Formats: sequence, structure tokens, C-alpha cells
Amino acid sequence: MSLETVPKDIRNLRACLLCALVKTLDQFAYDGCDNCEEYLHMKNNRDAVYECTSSNFDGLIAMMSPEDSWVSKWQRIARFAKGCYAVSVTGKLPPGIVRELRSKGIMYRPRDVSQS
Ligand SMILES: [Zn+2]
Repeated sequence: MSLETVPKDIRNLRACLLCALVKTLDQFAYDGCDNCEEYLHMKNNRDAVYECTSSNFDGLIAMMSPEDSWVSKWQRIARFAKGCYAVSVTGKLPPGIVRELRSKGIMYRPRDVSQS
């Protein structure tokens, strides 16, 4: 597996608002999101990282074999890259990006489960 997916630091951690992957701000800015780069374009774009990730999240799941874990199915991350994922991410993607996702056939469900 690529170790680039795993957070390198426990400071400056952020979670992707679309897939809940947790990495550092620098990792998102350098590599983009391993699952969502196609849609969120965070690579070399720090503004997009601030918009599409949140520093406010709860819980951390280290997912090593997402394809055969019930936890990953529960969290809807079974088809994503191996790595660390947040259980709940506070915040929402900007409306423009939600519209872009919808035009590509992706229904965005916010990952904030703290209030529901
Ligand atoms: Zn993502």
C-alpha cells in the first residue's frame, strides 16, 4: 500500500468532506485526496483543501482492507483507498462543488453525524 495515504503528523490533520479520509493539510495540498481528486481538485490548491476538508472531525478508523470490512460498509468507504478515516466530519462541501458532483451523478451526503 502507499504510505502516502497515512497521516504523517498528528497536527494539522484534516478530513475530506466527501470521503472522510484523514491526512495532514500538506498531504492534501501535495497529493490531493486519494479518493476524490477527480472531483475536488485539491492537488496544489490549498484553497480547495480548506474548502473541501475540515479540521473538525470525530473518531478515527484505520482501514487496511476496506473491501472486506463491515465497518467500511457501514461508513460507506468500502470502495475507497486504504488509510485513516473519520467517523464524523463537521462541515459541508461548498454548493458549487455539490452541484458539480450531482452533474456527474454523485449524490453528496454530508458526513456530519454528530447532530443526527
Ligand atoms: Zn476524499
